[in-house]
Amino acid sequence: MKQQTVLVLGSTGSIGRQTLEVLQSQPDRFTVLGLSADRDSEAFRAQVRAWKPKYAACRQQADRSAYPKETELLCGEDASERLASVPCDCTVLAISGFAALKPLLAAANNGGRIAIANKESLVCGGALVDAALQAHGAQLVPIDSEQSALFQCLQNGRKSEVRRLILTASGGPFFRKSKEELEHVTLDQVLRHPTWNMGRKITLDSATLFNKGLEVIEAARLFGFGAEQIGVLIHPQSIVHSMVEYCDRSVIANLAVPDMRLPIQYALTYPERTGSLTKPLDLASAHDLEFYPADPERFGALRLAYDALRTEGGCPIVYNGANEQAAELYFAEKIRFTDIERCVEAALNAFTPRPIDTLERVWETDAWSRAFVADYAKTMR
Ligand code: MG
Repeated sequence: MKQQTVLVLGSTGSIGRQTLEVLQSQPDRFTVLGLSADRDSEAFRAQVRAWKPKYAACRQQADRSAYPKETELLCGEDASERLASVPCDCTVLAISGFAALKPLLAAANNGGRIAIANKESLVCGGALVDAALQAHGAQLVPIDSEQSALFQCLQNGRKSEVRRLILTASGGPFFRKSKEELEHVTLDQVLRHPTWNMGRKITLDSATLFNKGLEVIEAARLFGFGAEQIGVLIHPQSIVHSMVEYCDRSVIANLAVPDMRLPIQYALTYPERTGSLTKPLDLASAHDLEFYPADPERFGALRLAYDALRTEGGCPIVYNGANEQAAELYFAEKIRFTDIERCVEAALNAFTPRPIDTLERVWETDAWSRAFVADYAKTMR
């Protein structure tokens, strides 16, 4: 078999590192063409020294002498975007946040496969991303565990036969806490996710349920269903990764132990399946699979996501941008946990929906939402 060339954008993050584990486990199948990271960190240097890719891209200015001679070093603000425009068989987009949108568009222009872990770029890019993918015949395959599950379940019937998509949510560490108790949770409690070990932005988003809100919009983008056909179900064990209900009321679910290396691998090998690093699922021993309704009134982040998706007109961009800004303020200890939702709701209320027909509009709307939250948060202290 011819080796497939892979670019890993965001290689030092949680998904990036697990992607390299998967690639390492199948050396005959894959070769790493390029790696990218934000910072010229020791972790990144070690990856580049170990893999000796043709390209290494770093947003920060990097010390040339710390990298292998055979590797071409790309540095600067647009380093990831430049790397994403290198032709390859598959680009793994594991950059966190809105910053992944430009690299996503650059990769789309190349026409290969994009294994996408980043949801913010899809949520904000909307129809513009679709247009870029279609114009160049690029194919998106999701890595996010829920979207990968939906992608797999959707192979069991036609789109017209689908009644609804059911996204499962672990509920994060706090889903049993009352609104009152949530006022007092600490950062340390936020960062202790019950089932997944992930980067800190997505761990925070899991605790606030903004991650699930983004996934509702992401599912709409990826699979072309409206808000009314996407449901959320709390499932604390994260064994059922999502489900699809068909018109005959048959429900197809995807189950596996929570291990991101599995959806990463599937995004790389699809439509084939191969042996994996993931432990077998042993349903007979001690797995109580529980499900609870995800009430959008109780979980404001979900309610706001549905509203944003129904309204469109840039509201999903505001939903994401306001949440990213509020998350930064939260990590900087400028606002409380429960203020994140308040910031996003205030931004959405203050925003006038408008057609988002150019990329400039996407950037403007994102910038507006961040500036709004930065200002609004000052009134909260
Ligand atoms: Mg997910």
